[in-house]
Amino acid sequence: MAKKKGRVFSGARPTGKQHLGNYLGAIKNYVALQDTYEETIYSIVDIHALTTIETTKDLPQNTYEMALDWLAAGIRPEKSIIFIQSHVPEVVELHIFLSMVTPLGKLTDLPTFKDKIRQQPYNVNYGLVGYPVLMAADIALYKAVAVPVGVDQAPHIEFTREIVRSFNYRYNTNVLVEPQMVATEFPKILGIDGKNKMSKSLNNHIELAATPEETQKRVMQMVTDPQRARRSDPGNPDVCNVFTLHKIFSSPEEVTMINTECRRAGIGCVDCKKIFAKNLNEHLAPFRERRSEIAKDPDYIQDVLRDGAERARAIARVTITEVKEAIGLP
Ligand code: SF4
Repeated sequence: MAKKKGRVFSGARPTGKQHLGNYLGAIKNYVALQDTYEETIYSIVDIHALTTIETTKDLPQNTYEMALDWLAAGIRPEKSIIFIQSHVPEVVELHIFLSMVTPLGKLTDLPTFKDKIRQQPYNVNYGLVGYPVLMAADIALYKAVAVPVGVDQAPHIEFTREIVRSFNYRYNTNVLVEPQMVATEFPKILGIDGKNKMSKSLNNHIELAATPEETQKRVMQMVTDPQRARRSDPGNPDVCNVFTLHKIFSSPEEVTMINTECRRAGIGCVDCKKIFAKNLNEHLAPFRERRSEIAKDPDYIQDVLRDGAERARAIARVTITEVKEAIGLP
């Protein structure tokens, strides 16, 4: 099948070892897009992380672990450019140029900015306000035509499109490209608490690189149908997060069986979770094997990231030159 034209870009903050939510919400899609589009570029956006983290002490290790998970999950350096955002400083230049065409009021009105103010009222820094402009610079620097994100991120992509349009209009050019959003298959995966999005900061996650025993332990802690207090009570799989994940990781026969038996109390939650844990562990086994293979050679990961930065920079330099010419800088 012929690949779609143009580049895909996506970035993720260096959050260390990745979890099931990261995998289903982003990484799985990153891997698939490698075979769908001509070029795919994936960035570990360490500069973005500086807007919210209080210390950088874990940043190198978190970056390394995340790159390791990406590679183990199937992002291939032969197919994709994988790099660290700060290794391509042109993004900071473009960020400044784009900030000149972005109204401040629009940035401070964004719901995501208001959320951040609530979350960290003691640290409302300039970078936090300009975060969406840096994100626009990430995408526009590579003239990406497509950006894979969850539907909750749709306003950010729309905002990037607005900034790109403003730049092109202000300088009477078409040097920057308006990207389209590519919606991910599973935009929101709930954590083991069954109510919040899976997240490391809420400690409701299941790590991809965990051992089978650790995974089983986490699965057994999962919150199920809250109305099902006793084994003899019929359950409702439609409101149960374990069942949602069964639909992704278990066979159609198992899903049908659980759907029927849960509703008539024919299966208990303990047994149901054991089936899920087994299927999940089987699914993750090849990933874990690849991960430990790659981890034996940390230099390989450094080489991949260095090579990725060089390839990304080659593209970035061309864009920045065109941008400066379009602006009319002396
Ligand atoms: Fe959820 Fe399974 Fe329990 Fe039903 S039996 S409530 S699907 S964990």
